[in-house]
Amino acid sequence: MKVTVRVGDTLWYYSQLFGIPLQLIKDSNRGLNVQQLEVGSQLNVPGFTTKAYKIKDGDTIWQLAKERNFLPDALFLLNEDIDAENLKIGQEITIPTRVVRPVVDAKKNYDYQSLVKDLKALLDIYPFLREKNIGDSVLGSRIPEVRIGRGRKKVHMNGSFHANEWITTAVIMKFLNEYLLSLTNMKPIRGLYVDSFYYECTLSIVPMVNPDGVDLVLNGPPKEEPYQSTVVEINQGSLDFKDWKANIRGVDLNNQFPTKWEIEKERKEPKSPAPRDYPGDEPLTEPEVIAMEDLTKKRGFDRVLAFHTQGKEIYWGYEGAEPIESQAIVNEFARTSGYKAVRYVDSHAGYKDWFIQEYKRPGFTMELGEGVNPLPLTQFDEIYQQSLGIFLASMYM
Ligand SMILES: [Zn+2]
Repeated sequence: MKVTVRVGDTLWYYSQLFGIPLQLIKDSNRGLNVQQLEVGSQLNVPGFTTKAYKIKDGDTIWQLAKERNFLPDALFLLNEDIDAENLKIGQEITIPTRVVRPVVDAKKNYDYQSLVKDLKALLDIYPFLREKNIGDSVLGSRIPEVRIGRGRKKVHMNGSFHANEWITTAVIMKFLNEYLLSLTNMKPIRGLYVDSFYYECTLSIVPMVNPDGVDLVLNGPPKEEPYQSTVVEINQGSLDFKDWKANIRGVDLNNQFPTKWEIEKERKEPKSPAPRDYPGDEPLTEPEVIAMEDLTKKRGFDRVLAFHTQGKEIYWGYEGAEPIESQAIVNEFARTSGYKAVRYVDSHAGYKDWFIQEYKRPGFTMELGEGVNPLPLTQFDEIYQQSLGIFLASMYM
């Protein structure tokens, strides 16, 4: 919510008045001279919304505040011109409301539009989040990254490299919302107080690397030609896209990185665009992959987690380039999720392979859940519970 600065107000005072950590308020008002607040200017207070309230017979500002666990000044701040001694029945006032429930509606067919809508809602309530467009998909959809925290440890997570693994986006978004709720309400997640994570980690999330592919699986072919026709051709005439992993051009985005790409090119069966496994004509041809490569180079992540489905396994090595600390981290992931840590698989040209080879830092591929992709939403709650430990451990380990 927004408040209008009065004479004598400070961010510290707002922090006390609303019970929101001072740093979160500071980070919600970037570019502002916080030492000298300008009277009359508008400031963001994260973790709150407002609602209109109609005065009833017998209401007083003091009683309305007390019932909601606010100091009366919270109401005076939001209702500047109010005459507290002369409230009129039916008069409308603004009441601050602490956000204590998720706004992300994750347990559904989570397409690109759902993502955009939920990110907008989160940025509105939690302006200390930072959002950036890391590039555009083939069809021109913006691929968003959100960052949260101000710590030195840079942790990155991404979902939906593969189209029919879109449930990973939903799971990540639910976690993001839980984390934000936990920070603003100072409530633990699974008994863990996460406020220190905010100061120790900067978490980068790209929830949906492959928006065109996800929408193809969930909503069918796009309106745009030539893609509307070519996806059906690539899919051998079928309008059922549930097995589709690739981007809209039929290139498998997790086979596109220049880490022994030639081996994958040679041995993968498809020699032209396909619903899955086609590594492209060259490495790094697809805009979604280029966006992820650029972002990773720019940010200098200390560790990355790429979320896929399925198999209840965590891959953590690549040709001996993985650092020693990867082992301790993956053991904690395995402990908290019940998944199996697997060091090597016979695979190249994936995001985590490239990251480990390039940076010699910990990189992981999480294979969430078990069954046939796309995993059904009936697995959502179970997958979320298994992933939650991994999300948290990625920051405290
Ligand atoms: Zn995958």
